[in-house]
Amino acid sequence: MAHAGLLLRLNCQEYKNWMKAGQCLLLLKDSLQEFIASEMSAFHKHLSNRIPPPRARCQCRARGRQFNPGCLVCAEWKKHILEHHTNRNGEIHWGNCDPSLWSGHYWEVAKAYMPRGCTDKKRPEACDASALLNLITTCDHFRGPDLSKVREVIKCRNDLMHSSDMKVSSAWLRQFGNKIQNFVSEFRHVPGIKEEGSKIQEVLQSDWAVLEQNLDTYDGFTLECDAANPVFPICDLELLMIDEMLQELYYQLEEEDTLSEKDLDNFQTMQNFLSEHKDLQSVFQSKMDKLALLLKNHAELKVGLGQE
Ligand SMILES: [Zn+2]
Repeated sequence: MAHAGLLLRLNCQEYKNWMKAGQCLLLLKDSLQEFIASEMSAFHKHLSNRIPPPRARCQCRARGRQFNPGCLVCAEWKKHILEHHTNRNGEIHWGNCDPSLWSGHYWEVAKAYMPRGCTDKKRPEACDASALLNLITTCDHFRGPDLSKVREVIKCRNDLMHSSDMKVSSAWLRQFGNKIQNFVSEFRHVPGIKEEGSKIQEVLQSDWAVLEQNLDTYDGFTLECDAANPVFPICDLELLMIDEMLQELYYQLEEEDTLSEKDLDNFQTMQNFLSEHKDLQSVFQSKMDKLALLLKNHAELKVGLGQE
């Protein structure tokens, strides 16, 4: 029983639920990529026709939620992007974009409608489900479908990423399945999405039992277990999900002025989980160290402010 801990983890029902939901989001993202790429390309063309082309590439740079255009072309692009933004008075993560590329790269424009953290995502395939779903709700080019169905899925995705013990109940997973199906029927005009919807159903209904003999070939992180044929090997899936979760927690803590008890609890729960699973801990140690440093800086800042 060399892999007893691993076997226990992969067969824990609530942990499996958590991963299954992640797998469904990956499938949903796959089914949306091409559609979104072609829609955003058309949207870019629509805007390009209204904005004069630059004579040369400018030096304008955006940072975080700030972008003060340094040239007339970028000022025009900013104006047009905002006109189509459903959250134009709220937070816009301009830092996702390289404005000097707006004229020639449609995806740099698309990223103005996405949550933070998309700066290095140069193509739709590089973006996660959250980025694509948020794009649909914040760019009015996608008006038409009932966007509450999209927001429901975004909310589920956020629940998943904020579940610091990496577990969700079977009742939650059932509701999640319904919301995904609602989404699929709302976007039934998207080529291939119905087929992807069936695959999602299969994932939700499968058992994903991992047997000890499946672990024989386990060599660290390339476990290939045929648990109802996951499209993604389970171990890759958990690495991907934990990585996304740590990244999200980092962004969240970085933006907060003061940390709540809940933030500290979340960090502690994740740390406990990883310390119980050495295979995962070794992969994520440097990210956890980065988070710990961020928490320490927060605490020092608080003490510093208290002394003033
Ligand atoms: Zn510019």
